[in-house]
Amino acid sequence: MPKTDAIIDRDRLWEDIMALGAVTDPARPYTRRSFSQLFLEGRAWLAERFLAAGLSTHIDAAGNLIGRREGEDPQAGTIVIGSHSDSVPSGGRFDGMAGVIAGLAIARDLRDQGIMLGHALEIVDFLAEEPSEYGISCVGSRGITGMLSPADLRLHNKQDETLEAALSRMGGDPGRLAIRTDIAAGFELHIEQGPVLEAKEINIGIVTSIVGITRIEIIFQGTAGHAGTTPMTLRRDPLIAAAGLIGWIRDKAEAFAARGRGHFVATTGIVEVLPNASNVIPKTARIVVDARSEDRDLMEEFCRALDAESLAFADAANVDRLNLTRLSDSMPAACDPALQELLGASADASGRSSMRMASGAGHDMAFISLVAPVAMVFIPCKGGRSHTPEEWASPEALAAGTEVLLDAILSFDSSSR
Ligand SMILES: [Zn+2]
Repeated sequence: MPKTDAIIDRDRLWEDIMALGAVTDPARPYTRRSFSQLFLEGRAWLAERFLAAGLSTHIDAAGNLIGRREGEDPQAGTIVIGSHSDSVPSGGRFDGMAGVIAGLAIARDLRDQGIMLGHALEIVDFLAEEPSEYGISCVGSRGITGMLSPADLRLHNKQDETLEAALSRMGGDPGRLAIRTDIAAGFELHIEQGPVLEAKEINIGIVTSIVGITRIEIIFQGTAGHAGTTPMTLRRDPLIAAAGLIGWIRDKAEAFAARGRGHFVATTGIVEVLPNASNVIPKTARIVVDARSEDRDLMEEFCRALDAESLAFADAANVDRLNLTRLSDSMPAACDPALQELLGASADASGRSSMRMASGAGHDMAFISLVAPVAMVFIPCKGGRSHTPEEWASPEALAAGTEVLLDAILSFDSSSR
């Protein structure tokens, strides 16, 4: 049975969110990039708060900051509540931070109420969830799930510092990376970063799965020429092929989204034309497509269709399709059905409305799902906006999500003892 006495201290939760947000590059609020001095300052503040909440605090081999309390049953494994304290440049105060601070509030509440869990509990600030200057994201959650390869560790930033060296600089120990086998369940609270919950006036989003993300580069090549003297019939303009394909990508994504096989979106976010001059027929056109799906088979079908269609558009424009390359490719990650049920029951018991929804953004829990059952709570954010200083979630929404999470964790702990 859900425990409806799961009430957290809302004011302290809010004060903590604001206090961590204040650790920012003053010239570009709100910026606290992973691996930076400011990031370490934010973490020093977090570590102090962890200690004050009665958690023992350390940095693991993958550079994650962990606050831990032991459980009554050493065999029961660990419940992880985690998210990230790093931000994108000129980002917000909630993406990532809300999940870490919610975990802190839960740990503090358990301590204040004198509640012992069977499981150990860890509040985790995963290292570098956002894309870092080493060209990789989710460094900390990759690092404890076997997804940080030696090649990844050799990636370097513009100052030629390797990720391996940076990881050590953050207090990690890249030589001792190991896959966690003790996690009984992973939970993450996160702002939705989209407009659905707010528009539907629903308190809690229960995430069904985290989309897989595939990025594809396509380059068309034609013949550069004078924009005034080359007759229309004699042109080989690669941008015509790219433009046709961009429209097709939108239409195809709409059709796939309507097929009832979950969230599907595709975006052409990069268009590069050379030489990019008003009086020159382009020589090359490069586009990068970002496609996201809950359903791996659907993604593969999209990629096959994109391959065929890009060749067809190249043919029709009398240009060459030089290449089609998958720049990156991640699998969708399913959230655990039983944990989703617990969150749903907790929302119901506390009179909060909830709905199931996919996450169109990547999260640390996508990696944790490789080693443990995971679940995510989404809370509404103003206007669905994220990765901007205007990012905003109300104190009530934060408290509601945190209380639902706490209640589900209490249920999970008592049911799996
Ligand atoms: Zn995030």
